[in-house]
Amino acid sequence: MQPWTSEMPPMIGVVVPCYHEEEVLPETAKRLSVLLEQLVEDKLIAMNSYVLFVDDGSKDRTWAIIESLHETNSRLRGLKLARNTGHQNALLAGLMTAKEDADAVISIDADLQDDIEAIREFVVQFRAGYEVVYGVRDDRSTDTRFKRGTAQIFYKLMSRLGVDIVYNHADYRLMSKRAVEYLAEYTEVNLFLRGIVPLIGLSSTQVRYKRYERFAGESKYPLRKMLGFAIDGITSFSVRPIRMVTATGFIFLALSIIVALYALIAKISGQAFPGWTSIVLSIWFVGGVQIMCIGLVGEYIGKIYKEVKRRPKFHIEQLLRSGWMSEDRQEEAGQSESASQEQGATELRVASEPAVERVGSVGTRSR
Ligand code: UDP
Ligand code: MG
Repeated sequence: MQPWTSEMPPMIGVVVPCYHEEEVLPETAKRLSVLLEQLVEDKLIAMNSYVLFVDDGSKDRTWAIIESLHETNSRLRGLKLARNTGHQNALLAGLMTAKEDADAVISIDADLQDDIEAIREFVVQFRAGYEVVYGVRDDRSTDTRFKRGTAQIFYKLMSRLGVDIVYNHADYRLMSKRAVEYLAEYTEVNLFLRGIVPLIGLSSTQVRYKRYERFAGESKYPLRKMLGFAIDGITSFSVRPIRMVTATGFIFLALSIIVALYALIAKISGQAFPGWTSIVLSIWFVGGVQIMCIGLVGEYIGKIYKEVKRRPKFHIEQLLRSGWMSEDRQEEAGQSESASQEQGATELRVASEPAVERVGSVGTRSR
């Protein structure tokens, strides 16, 4: 049942996209597995929680390292993509794989820039009932001034354009199994996960953490990729740039009236050269009409763009229904039975739950 209401520790899958990360991987694996051991010991997460390294088509020793890590420690799993598909796609591949085998998944970069200790708090919040937990950077003092500045502009611009993204949140977050299942319903090709996750809805919270320097290796996001990412983010979520074109067209049309008056007065008072009036009039008027028409065409293209993305129109958060158990729930009850056997627990989760589902409402967010 969602959100997590069980007393039993949830099974967590940590997804780590890796592209040419041979320098940091062994250290990342060591730190993450130590952390998971601690969390298991503290009874915060289930015994069988794991880390899933996603090799995003690296050409260096990244996959070889992942294989040997898996051999020595079964908690460390690997997923190899056939070619380099970019951070967002690699992350999605990992999330979709991990959700099959976890109650909640956490995504984190391989370079140890994000403080892994925040994972503990993520889990605490998940167990408190939140389905999406955003990691938010406390300060960016370790980023270069340039990166900080451009990121700042990007977040501001996005919010101006009406895109709902969490300030200073990268892709370090926890999502419940259900949230990831809902994410799977977004079939768009231009992936910008930071923009999509808030669209899902469900109860969410933020956890602050410190951002460090990259442990080793170089950023895989050069300026070119960063710009592409920003443009993707804006154009995938907002039609406002198109609206601006239309607005500019209207402004030019309004200006053309003023220019027309001026040109006519000049002509009548005999100050205009022959032919000047007609040229000035047509430049301003026709220019305005053209810009407006481009905006108008853009409006329709924007609509087509939204249509072809086929985003889901709503996600259900809770369903009020008494004396009835869905197949999912029966399955879940069965799972919890086997899970509790595994962990030597005597109490069955299903036995402690009332026959009536928790009171709630049917959330139908449509976009
Ligand atoms: N990454 C990936 N595929 C790519 C580029 C990057 O899987 O094509 C991974 C990379 O290994 C890292 C994460 O995405 O774990 C973020 O990349 P990076 O740290 O280089 O970006 P930055 O933190 O500099 O923005
Ligand atoms: Mg990084």
